[in-house]
Amino acid sequence: MLARRKFIRTTVLGSLGVLAARRAEGETHFGIKGRPMVVSTWDAGLEANKAAWEILGKGGRALDAVEKGVMVTEASQNCCVGLGANPDRDGFVTLDACIMDEFSNCGAVAFLERIKHPIAVARRVMEKTPHVMLVGSGAQQFALAEGFPLEAATLSPDAENAYREWLKKSEYKPPAINVENKQGHGPFAPAKLSNGEWNHDTIGMVAMDANGNFSGSCTTSGAGFKMRGRVGDSPIIGAGLFVDNEVGACTATGQGEDVIRVAGSHSVVELMRQGLSPEKAARKIIERIVRIKKEKARDIQVAFLAIDKKGRHGAFAIHPGFSYALRNGEQEVLVRAKSFFET
Ligand code: ASP
Repeated sequence: MLARRKFIRTTVLGSLGVLAARRAEGETHFGIKGRPMVVSTWDAGLEANKAAWEILGKGGRALDAVEKGVMVTEASQNCCVGLGANPDRDGFVTLDACIMDEFSNCGAVAFLERIKHPIAVARRVMEKTPHVMLVGSGAQQFALAEGFPLEAATLSPDAENAYREWLKKSEYKPPAINVENKQGHGPFAPAKLSNGEWNHDTIGMVAMDANGNFSGSCTTSGAGFKMRGRVGDSPIIGAGLFVDNEVGACTATGQGEDVIRVAGSHSVVELMRQGLSPEKAARKIIERIVRIKKEKARDIQVAFLAIDKKGRHGAFAIHPGFSYALRNGEQEVLVRAKSFFET
């Protein structure tokens, strides 16, 4: 018994020693102090990161950064996230979002209609209710009670055109994706906008602030022309987003059904906890999805994007064409992710 007690004491003191040494090097128990960074999915992430950096660069909290960052994308007229996005197959735009902070507080909304900033409503769910997720008319009712305005139930001109085109056949086809050549079609392929740009229907953002604390956000209109009531991975904590302040954070994009079945973002964070880098952890979970989907993996796109407490960032996708935006003290760039199928 005495020997055992001594062992435990020595081990605890040993770990405290390691912790003290790490702190001396600038690394806290959580993340690296004084080296804030933010990453977000797809090209629209560059603009979103700018807004996040306004907060992070001044020493602000990661939670505020990831909320304000993706709000830029939600509000953008040139983007498929938010109310300008493609509708469901009945012609209604329905939005999903979630947010998570360094204390593992989290909030989410799903199947939300006519509210411009679902991410801000998700944060209110987190901060003002005893719940994690509100959906549909309940989520809208809560948003209105919180003072969010009810927006018009109209489609953007791009979405109107896309919907009219889709109605000609009214098929919900599994997506055949060739995002690299911008030739994709199907619910998760990039949409061509009237200004000639291509865009996606989701933004996921994860950040570490100057205190070494992590937060993340994810917001989407989901799959274009989906069944009414369909909710994907994006508002589901552990699937579209997961944050663990001792490890790091991960977000997902692509075919939500296949992210949910492997508890995607949570699984990536758990592998990082075991010591894998963000890219290696993302790769393992992509490989798991490919094993499950077999031949069908050729027809779907999924990507994970993660950061860890050492300040590393990385991503991995099933198909080429996924890139993410990075902003830190030194860089503001778009990074092309590696993929399971190289071409
Ligand atoms: N993951 C989103 C969903 O399934 C879509 C996307 O990322 O493009 O709703």
